[in-house]
Amino acid sequence: MLASRLLARASVAIAARPAAAAPTSASSAAAPSVAAIRSYSARSLRPSAHREEVSTTYATPIPEPTSWRQIVDNNASTLFFSELFGGMRLTLDYFFRPKATLHYPFEKGPLSPRFRGEHALRRYPSGEERCIACKLCEAICPAMAITIEAEPRADGSRRTTRYDIDLTKCIYCGFCQEACPVDAIVEGPNFEYATETHEELLANKDKLLSNGDKWEPELAANLQSEYLYR
Ligand code: SF4
Ligand code: SF4
Repeated sequence: MLASRLLARASVAIAARPAAAAPTSASSAAAPSVAAIRSYSARSLRPSAHREEVSTTYATPIPEPTSWRQIVDNNASTLFFSELFGGMRLTLDYFFRPKATLHYPFEKGPLSPRFRGEHALRRYPSGEERCIACKLCEAICPAMAITIEAEPRADGSRRTTRYDIDLTKCIYCGFCQEACPVDAIVEGPNFEYATETHEELLANKDKLLSNGDKWEPELAANLQSEYLYR
């Protein structure tokens, strides 16, 4: 009797062993069952499964319904022209304030002594031109706007025979006047030289010298005020 019971238990254990102790790989042990995959898919497809809480802020608040008080105020404003009179009061206020506008070209604002306007060639008080044809301005000009030709005079001094500036190439950097050792080429305070043709902006030596003669008091004053910083 006892032997038959032990035999029966042993056979049951042997029958159950392949299922319980069967060799399993790491991947198969970690792999989810088909039922689990189905359950996860069903949950993830549910609309509320992964919905995040988002707080919405409107750029402009939703307007409140117009109250009776606002309606009465709006109608009173229209009836008594309060906005019209408010605008006229503001106009009258500005009418008596100091003016911020200028009647150009009859009035002009102040210009800095460092303002870089139209070029000019200066002379000494004796009338002799300052330029000694060293060509430093031509060499430093980044726009290659300056063209100089020179030859010695009969007295042995060196002067230019040609001094051209293409003002349509010039970028008004001021390098030429910084490079000049004798303050001959300068950029003056004149900014009113708009023209209708390109040719009028090709300044030759005569034009530059006449600019210098015309603006010499202002040019000399500007150079004098800035000599400590040069
Ligand atoms: S201001 Fe500048 S770009 Fe114009 S001519 Fe002088 S160096 Fe050349
Ligand atoms: S303008 Fe001045 S820098 Fe230019 S060539 Fe004459 S002296 Fe030299």
